[in-house]
Amino acid sequence: MGIVLQDIFKAQRTIRSIAQHTPLVSALDLSTRFDSDIRLKLETTQETGAFKLRGAANKILNLTEEQRKRGIITVSTGNHGRAVAYVAKSLNINATVCVSELVPANKIDALQQLGVTVVIDGQSQDDAAVRAAELQKQHGYTLIHPFDDPFIIAGQGTIGLELLQDFPDIDTVIIPLSGGGLIGGVALALKSANLNIRVIGVSMERGPVMYHSLKAGYPIELAEQESLADSLGGGIGLQNQYTFSLAQQYVDEVVLLTEEEIAQGMAYAFRQLQLVTEGAGAVPIAAVLSNKVKSLGKHIALVISGANVNMTVFTDIVRKFEE
Ligand SMILES: *Cc1c(COP(=O)(O)O)cnc(C)c1O
Repeated sequence: MGIVLQDIFKAQRTIRSIAQHTPLVSALDLSTRFDSDIRLKLETTQETGAFKLRGAANKILNLTEEQRKRGIITVSTGNHGRAVAYVAKSLNINATVCVSELVPANKIDALQQLGVTVVIDGQSQDDAAVRAAELQKQHGYTLIHPFDDPFIIAGQGTIGLELLQDFPDIDTVIIPLSGGGLIGGVALALKSANLNIRVIGVSMERGPVMYHSLKAGYPIELAEQESLADSLGGGIGLQNQYTFSLAQQYVDEVVLLTEEEIAQGMAYAFRQLQLVTEGAGAVPIAAVLSNKVKSLGKHIALVISGANVNMTVFTDIVRKFEE
C-alpha cells in the first residue's frame, strides 16, 4: 500500500489541532546574494521546535482506542521522541521513548519534562531500536516509527501543501534528509502539483545513509558518526518499505555537507536571519551558501526543520564565526 496525495490532505485536517501551519518568510540577504527569491519555511516555530510534530500527530490521532489504551513506544534521536511525547501528553496516552547514548543531554531533558519514560541504551539508534522492540512485545505498545510509516510521511507532507498555498511560484525546495519521511512526504505533495518542482535533499558527509542507498539502488547500512546535524544521524532500515522508494522516485539531487559548512549555516542563520537553528535545521541554508547545489532555481523554499540545539554548542559556533 503506497501513499497518495489524498492521504496528505487527510493528514492536514487531522493534525490541525496540534501542529501549526508555519510561517514562510523571505530571506532577503540570501535572495540578493543568489539573485533569486529564497524563502524559509520555519518549522522551528512548531510547539516542540521541529516539524516532527506533524507526523507524530497524524500517526497517533489515527490509532484505535485499544491501541491508545495500551500505550506507545518509539526510538528517537530527539525531535521525533519529543513530538511523540508532546502528542501523547496532550491525548493522555502512556508513552516510552528509547534513545541511544549519542543523543545530547538537552534533548533527553526536554523529553523527561514532557512526562514520558526515557530509556537510554546502546551506541546507536539501531541498539535503541532492539530495546524498543523488546519493550513493545512485553507490554503490547504500538511502535511509532520516526519516518518509515505512511501516516508519518503524510503528516510531514503537509509542509508541501502549505508551500503550494503560500508560495505558488515555488520551483525548488531544499530539505534536510535523513530517514526520508520529511523529504518523501513533501516531495509527494509538491510533485503531485507540479513535476517540474525540483526536490533537493541535504545530508552531512558523516554517514549519509540515504545518499549511499540511492547510489547503490537498495538500502544500505553505515556506521553512525557524531555530527553537528545530530538529527540527521541514523539509518533508513535495511527493510525500508516506503521512504527509500519515495526518495528514488522524487529526489532530484542530494547535497552532502562538511561539519564546517553546517556550522557556517548555523552562524549565518543567527547573524543574518535572527534564527536559532540546530545543525539539521540549518543544512538547507548551508547548502545554498556552499554553492554545492547544482540547479538552484529562482523561487526557492528552504525547510528549516528544527531549532533544538545544545546552547553550548550553539554559542561556540556563533562566537567562532563572529567578526
Ligand atoms: C528528523 C529530522 C530531520 C530528518 O527527517 P527525516 O524524515 O528523517 O529525513 C531533519 N531535521 C530535523 C530537525 C529532524 O528532527
